[in-house]
Amino acid sequence: MELKYIEHIGIAVKDLESSIKYYEDVLGLSCYSIEEVKDQKVKTAFFQIGQTKLELLESTSEDGPIGKFIEKKGEGIHHLAFAVDNIENQLEDASSKGVRLIDSKPRSGAEGLEIAFLHPKSTHGVLTELCEKKG
Ligand code: ZN
Repeated sequence: MELKYIEHIGIAVKDLESSIKYYEDVLGLSCYSIEEVKDQKVKTAFFQIGQTKLELLESTSEDGPIGKFIEKKGEGIHHLAFAVDNIENQLEDASSKGVRLIDSKPRSGAEGLEIAFLHPKSTHGVLTELCEKKG
């Protein structure tokens, strides 16, 4: 595979509003975008640090992936996202090396990115996202 840089780190939070307050008031970052991704039953808030972003994820439903994650593990780091070119090829490469894919084809994520996830059972416990900026 060929990864360019860490695009973002996904962090599961219980409450977006109070979490944003921590990232702004304590860490001194500023939230530049809040977006709901209905598909994934989440509301997201983004912060930029250098080339990398932090993506806070609040579940909009208890049965969504973030709702389930928080119920099992509590708040915390949820996934690591790498920027790639040619996401389809990267997925094919990962799959050919025996990695289990959650998404065999890319789908649309927040910020107009094409995204796909690799299964944490195949990645030593790290839910891994690939993202490509199209166009
Ligand atoms: Zn993400």
